Amino acid sequence: MTKYKLEYVWLDGYTPTPNLRGKTQIKEFDSFPTLEQLPLWGFDGSSTQQAEGHSSDCVLKPVRVVPDITRTNGAVVLCEVLMPDLTPHPSNKRATILDDEGAWFGFEQEYFFYKDGRPLGFPASGYPAPQGPYYTGVGYKNVGDVARKIVEEHLDICLAAGLNHEGINAEVAKGQWEFQIFGKGSKRAADEMWLARYFLERLTESYGIDIEYHCKPLGDTDWNGSGMHCNFSTSFMREVGGKEYFEQLMAAFADARADHIAVYGPDNHMRLTGKHETASIHTFSYGVADRGCSIRVPHSFVNNGYKGYLEDRRPNSMGDPYQIASQVLKTISTVPTA
Ligand code: ADP
Ligand code: MN
Ligand code: MN
Repeated sequence: MTKYKLEYVWLDGYTPTPNLRGKTQIKEFDSFPTLEQLPLWGFDGSSTQQAEGHSSDCVLKPVRVVPDITRTNGAVVLCEVLMPDLTPHPSNKRATILDDEGAWFGFEQEYFFYKDGRPLGFPASGYPAPQGPYYTGVGYKNVGDVARKIVEEHLDICLAAGLNHEGINAEVAKGQWEFQIFGKGSKRAADEMWLARYFLERLTESYGIDIEYHCKPLGDTDWNGSGMHCNFSTSFMREVGGKEYFEQLMAAFADARADHIAVYGPDNHMRLTGKHETASIHTFSYGVADRGCSIRVPHSFVNNGYKGYLEDRRPNSMGDPYQIASQVLKTISTVPTA
């Protein structure tokens, strides 16, 4: 028997974007535990804005367990939060995602490293050289001395955890980076995004660095904001599709514009201005290979007879991937496929 350090991780009740929480329990198993072997656990919801009325006990239900190579015999156990009667807690947005094995999502997470209240690599006052060389850049003057070390460590932790991490790149602003997660099944990519965020936030603790997820941390300047583009497809979109269905789908997205914006991350009006490869927050638009639209239609989609995936460019870096996936599938479900 081996004693495993099980880090139960969940999302708290803060809105509009929850925070990650976690605590460890030690349990003995013959080998790395399966989900079925992991017990429910509990926590005090009054400290996480999840207490309902006078009873403050919330239940943690494991939904995914992955190895954690940063700890000897470590595992991270991603959980949903349930009420004492085992129904989903109101803060549990994962439970609102339609189950659909044929739904695939790819999220592109942009973020800033922050140290001492400034993006990593910014001077103590003023600004570094303007944007230009940083995106996909190399060299100390472009990426500094520690960012890439963290990014590489994070990548290795995610890959060892079995996350479907797809890649990394330095982004347009100094101190800004991106990674991508892809997953098949309506909840998988969102689960893995939260796990990847957890690993990133924990890794950077020891560097005295925070992750700034705000979509426009440098306000109304020429410094880029951060997004979390949501690439999505369903079995029908990939296998049947067609121009008529596509146009109906886009009409449904136009009608549901406000519902989407509501869950696409806070302060998105600061980012969706029509500048810096974004579309206005106030209108819905789509276009082939057009990065100035709400939804970018890849060339391949049109060339394959309106089949494949679409990219919603509006979700921002601070959005909750559960709420984003939930709304995308909800809107898709309003369009008839027969
Ligand atoms: P960008 O130019 O916006 O960075 P990429 O082409 O690099 O776009 O990334 C597109 C993303 O779309 C990939 O990271 C992948 O996760 C996702 N993706 C690819 N195929 C599908 C699909 N069939 N369904 C959903 N998402 C997909
Ligand atoms: Mn990017
Ligand atoms: Mn993109």
